[in-house]
Amino acid sequence: MLNILIVEDEQAIANLIYLNLSDEGYRCVCAFDGKQAADMIEKESYDLILLDIMLPEIDGYELLEYIKPTETPVIFITAKGSVSDRIKGLKLGADDYLVKPFQIGELSARVEAVLRRYGKSEKIISFAGLIINTESRQVQKDEEIIDLTVKEFDLLVELVRNKNIALYRDKLYEKVWGESFVGETRTLDSHIQRLRKKLGWEERIKTVFRIGYRLEG
Ligand code: CA
Repeated sequence: MLNILIVEDEQAIANLIYLNLSDEGYRCVCAFDGKQAADMIEKESYDLILLDIMLPEIDGYELLEYIKPTETPVIFITAKGSVSDRIKGLKLGADDYLVKPFQIGELSARVEAVLRRYGKSEKIISFAGLIINTESRQVQKDEEIIDLTVKEFDLLVELVRNKNIALYRDKLYEKVWGESFVGETRTLDSHIQRLRKKLGWEERIKTVFRIGYRLEG
């Protein structure tokens, strides 16, 4: 799971960010002032830091100087929307900038974009209540780990990455098994059956007549 540190002294905003990003499969922790944040950054490494500018103790600009050597991506979050602040933040090395109040959708899009830029985003895919971690190869549903075999896992990732697309049996097989399809569909079909069962996706994974399968989402 990717670790995100949320540095924000307004509890309600910190909470909102925390709940939304946790929901998307990130592991989040909050710091409510600059000093607490500095301590946490010293002890622990993060994949991304969301950083408010106006903070008690140590402000966001100063913290950014502190974060820089760790090469952790930073998104500034602030009520100060003026162009000069924005430029200052980006000049100091922030990766992006969010101005309060912001839409939650905008927050998660920016978080994802920055993580992608750092080659980190592909590790976590969230879909239909599932959290799929392609690094640890774990699948979670309602906080519980779902036990999948290697091929079931690969098949799931392939389906999710191509959701709503009718996938041809032969292409799907070749992608997941890495060998050419010689017309023997039983292996693929039985894996699909088991995925449907384990995930409760009898309705979600559709059989497409004469083609193959389509994951609806
Ligand atoms: Ca603040």
